[in-house]
Amino acid sequence: MSEVTKEDLELINKHTRRELKADEVYTFPLVLCTNQVDRDFERFDDNALDELAVLCIGKTVIRDHIWSADNQTARIYRTQVENKGAGVKHLTAFAYLPVTDSTKDFIAQLDAGIKKEVSIGCAAQQAVCSICGKSRQDCMHVAGRMYSGDMCVYTLKGITDAYEVSFVAVPAQPDAGVIKSFNVRKSYTEGEEEQNTVQGAGTALDERLVEAEIKNIERKMNYEYQMQ
Ligand SMILES: [Zn+2]
Repeated sequence: MSEVTKEDLELINKHTRRELKADEVYTFPLVLCTNQVDRDFERFDDNALDELAVLCIGKTVIRDHIWSADNQTARIYRTQVENKGAGVKHLTAFAYLPVTDSTKDFIAQLDAGIKKEVSIGCAAQQAVCSICGKSRQDCMHVAGRMYSGDMCVYTLKGITDAYEVSFVAVPAQPDAGVIKSFNVRKSYTEGEEEQNTVQGAGTALDERLVEAEIKNIERKMNYEYQMQ
């Protein structure tokens, strides 16, 4: 059982209908995302982490990518950007859930470290290419491909909204360092979104390159379609 401090309880009770006591809540930390390049050859810039840190407070952590009240498991009440050294930053969130008969199994899974992978859904104003510095829709490079020794990656900037955080049903990771996979929605034009879901953490690099390439083409096609 996690220790719930008085400060934590005050923050938690901002989100509850009645005041909960320390023994009625379970809290746990989770790394939402980092500023490092992910499996989709994208990364958040440092400002984006700070923006997400604010936007994620009060957001629900759901068990799967299913939008239903049953799946709403926990709520984020505190976030912090942690400096891990060598320019690496992690956005860590602290979430709570009530201790009830229906959450017992889930808490046991959290305690056992089974539910580790999360994905975060958010909207970014811009995805900037590392090769040409242009926005994705104006750039002809392909994420994950090498250009004169440099890999094309996109930096996500200007986070305008965070939708949800989900636990991803992925079995224990062979590479324990990887504790996130995320799901980013990017708005190209107001009111229109495209969803990009990362699947299977253990996918081989070749497959990832192919996937990234397909996604890149789809994005460009989608953008061109929207422009017509
Ligand atoms: Zn480019």
